[in-house]
Amino acid sequence: MSAEPVLEARGVTLSFGPTPALRGAELAVQRGEILAIMGPSGSGKSTLLHCLAGILTPEGGEVRFAGQRLDTMPEQARSALRRDRFGFVFQFGQLVPELTAVENVALPLLLARTKRAAALAQAREWFGRLGLDGLEGRRSGELSGGQAQRVALARALVTRPDVVFADEPTGALDSLTGEQVMDLLVATAREQGATVVVVTHEPRVAACADREVVVRDGVVRSLVGGGLSS
Ligand code: ADP
Repeated sequence: MSAEPVLEARGVTLSFGPTPALRGAELAVQRGEILAIMGPSGSGKSTLLHCLAGILTPEGGEVRFAGQRLDTMPEQARSALRRDRFGFVFQFGQLVPELTAVENVALPLLLARTKRAAALAQAREWFGRLGLDGLEGRRSGELSGGQAQRVALARALVTRPDVVFADEPTGALDSLTGEQVMDLLVATAREQGATVVVVTHEPRVAACADREVVVRDGVVRSLVGGGLSS
């Protein structure tokens, strides 16, 4: 028996005004899989990621997480699911500038009502793991791009999410730093058994994934033996 995919998009369509961003996107992601979504700029990659993560609601089609319909779920339930089961890494880290690095990492735990001392203690454990020892008290303006992105990784992983969604996580970094961040993301996700969906235009980032798909004109195509099939 084949395992149920952790994430599934079926015939997903979504337009922004007159612009169709997704035109029947189909995708199934297996539990524990590291999947790279590639494709030209404007092809619909981010829109697909946001639909899979329950941030955007498609106009047509279905999105499922662990068999549950995300697209028809009330917003409050989706928001709780995003908080408890998903982690997010964005291109520019998007740390809260007023908070210290360790407070940023603790934030998802605090939002899930973990007591402050326990949340900070759990957050601190990530600093050693991600080579960030000593940076706990810094604010985002006092971190390098690579350090800030590692803090963002810790924040995405601290709740032990089922799925980490990463939108161009290395896009603002030089290639060596980007590679380190991606290696850390893949290694920590594998350790925790988390699924990773990463949108990237960098082949080196995609090379870290178990599988690549390409989005073109709002449709997902699989990459098979170097050629494209729909
Ligand atoms: P990619 O991530 O592949 O660069 P996107 O998913 O961001 O592509 O965008 C797909 C299409 O939808 C593009 O034509 C883009 O301009 C449009 N689009 C995306 N988000 C918005 C938005 N919030 N408002 C209007 N148009 C949007």
